[in-house]
Amino acid sequence: MIYQWLYNRPARGAHVWAVLPLAAALLAAVAFAAAPPDQEFKPFAFILAGDPELGKPDVRNTADRFALLPQRAARIKAALVVIPGDMTHDDTDEEWDAIEGTLKQFSMPVKIVPGNHDKPKSFAKHVGEDHCVFTLNNCDFVCLNSNLGGSAAKTQRKWFEDALKASREHHRTHTFVVLHHPNVAKDEPLRGLVIRYGVKVVLAGHLHTTAEIAGKGYTIYVSPGTARFRDKGGLGYRVFKVYKDRIEQEFVPLEKEVAEAKLAP
Ligand SMILES: [Zn+2]
Repeated sequence: MIYQWLYNRPARGAHVWAVLPLAAALLAAVAFAAAPPDQEFKPFAFILAGDPELGKPDVRNTADRFALLPQRAARIKAALVVIPGDMTHDDTDEEWDAIEGTLKQFSMPVKIVPGNHDKPKSFAKHVGEDHCVFTLNNCDFVCLNSNLGGSAAKTQRKWFEDALKASREHHRTHTFVVLHHPNVAKDEPLRGLVIRYGVKVVLAGHLHTTAEIAGKGYTIYVSPGTARFRDKGGLGYRVFKVYKDRIEQEFVPLEKEVAEAKLAP
């Protein structure tokens, strides 16, 4: 849970900006004088991990494979690791204990959204907030809970729009959307917001495939993760390199050892 405490910006932040323009102007003036590190862009690399989904029939093996990630992320000097949900398969204490043990090994922020396998109570206990905005090097990661339906989904959509609006007002260099289900193309209101606010990169899991789903002006990148795969791509994750004018990414098979992610000057 400490990961979210340390690295989350609470969901209500967007509303504060909206209702307190004077305070916002004052803060902006202070920020101009000495911009906090998260508001200065510099190139960085991050990992889109995919579903850890620890569980039957091989809790130990899925746990061991997920446990490779902290080292991999450290080796490439990733500034962030994004895990798009389905932390466990069966929501057992054994699985969550292994998840928590591995999360402690990461030396950089880890952002996690809930998947369909993550029971809300367990997710809140072991991970924390189910949605948030995380800012890194003047880039926003808007993290959603894609399990919601009905009025909860509607409320979150309003929050999502406020977050995208705030991202634009803050002149973020890039805005990433993170969610478990790659359902942006099917969810018409969600898709409309992604297009309206010029989001180019959506990060997702759930499919256990190495998929790139192209939409109007955006691409949904899916990582297969470390538990199971359903295509010829095998297990693995994606490494993104974020530059001011572009975003590069590549799929890294889990069995492949990688050197430091070299960023272009
Ligand atoms: Zn799933």
